Amino acid sequence: MARKPPNMVRRVAFPESLSRPVATPLQPSIVYASRTPDELDDQYEGREKGFTYSREGHPNAELLAGKIDQLEGVTGGIVVSSGMAAVSVMFLGLLRAGDHVIGGNQLYGRSLRLMNEELPRQGIETSLADPTDISAIAAAIRPNTRLILIETVSNPTIRVADVEGIIALARDRGILIAVDNTFTTPLAVQPLRLGADIVIHSISKLMGGHSDVMLGYVAAREAALNTRMESVAVTYGFTGSPFDCWLAERGLFTFALRYQQAEANAAALADHIAGLPGVERVLYPGRGDHPDHNRAVALLAGRYANMLSFVVSGGRAAANRLASAVPGLAFAPTLGDVGTTLSHPMSSSHRALSPEEQARIGISEGFFRVSVGIEDIDLLRADFETAIGAARG
Ligand SMILES: *Cc1c(COP(=O)(O)O)cnc(C)c1O
Repeated sequence: MARKPPNMVRRVAFPESLSRPVATPLQPSIVYASRTPDELDDQYEGREKGFTYSREGHPNAELLAGKIDQLEGVTGGIVVSSGMAAVSVMFLGLLRAGDHVIGGNQLYGRSLRLMNEELPRQGIETSLADPTDISAIAAAIRPNTRLILIETVSNPTIRVADVEGIIALARDRGILIAVDNTFTTPLAVQPLRLGADIVIHSISKLMGGHSDVMLGYVAAREAALNTRMESVAVTYGFTGSPFDCWLAERGLFTFALRYQQAEANAAALADHIAGLPGVERVLYPGRGDHPDHNRAVALLAGRYANMLSFVVSGGRAAANRLASAVPGLAFAPTLGDVGTTLSHPMSSSHRALSPEEQARIGISEGFFRVSVGIEDIDLLRADFETAIGAARG
């Protein structure tokens, strides 16, 4: 009779070591074993710290959240499975039927979709207003307005919201101010320190930085709001994966360096592009010709981030030539990668807008958005000369 192979199903103890790993351990376990029901009680009652089931929380998410908390100057922030999960957790956790929400009229496309389609289905009233115009926001306030969601810098026209004005407006009215800080990051501005109530990030963008992580973060200054949002995240099931959290936490070690380099590149590239033949317009908040330059100087204090947009003449044909001219410049609808990426809002993020809306915010066939990466600036200058030269045919 064949000898039975050794039992590989029983789990054995992880090898012990007096020394500890330097790199962050990745913990993929979805479940944690306890010794006794008493110990489980201790954990559930909060007398002892411990994990039970990874949807409820896991070490890689907790570590990552703690690091972003430090960047934003807050405690108790939550990491969830995407930036949109962060926006959703906030709405689901802090609003109820009958409430009214105001959103910036140039929010991220899916955030607009949430405002326009999903929240009304839950009995929540929504309206949109221009966050660069404090009187437009004031006019949108109703007696049941509970929350205002803005982005520090908007996509794709890189407009700078009147963050401080909106915070001041809401302060005495009991309206929560939520700031999606994805484009500017806490290295440029910390909205909670300015008096905002909630801050949101798509970690998938600059913080992750390598286009291989899909995660989001949301934090409130008030602990009770974090508890509410955490309950929603765990109950609806918005938890992020340990591997993504591990990658993002690893990415944070170089976040400041990447950000500084990308930002310096963006400032230099914006000026370079502005001088190229065929370029009608460049939008970068660090430039004196940007419509919100003065506000950007006051709010961002020289940290103008890595996003710029420009407009070339020549319509769709020129846009096709430009997008495909330099294979090293990825034509991709995202931002925040270490490598420079180009996007074309007319055919991607803003394709569903009416022609009147597109014209109102200044989007045309020749409009490109650039997420500037950390390449050598001379390489980028040459790449954009080639691409913009190709647009001219
Ligand atoms: C990308 C993005 C989001 C959504 O984040 P995901 O991680 O893609 O879900 C939200 N807000 C802004 C400003 C973004 O750029």
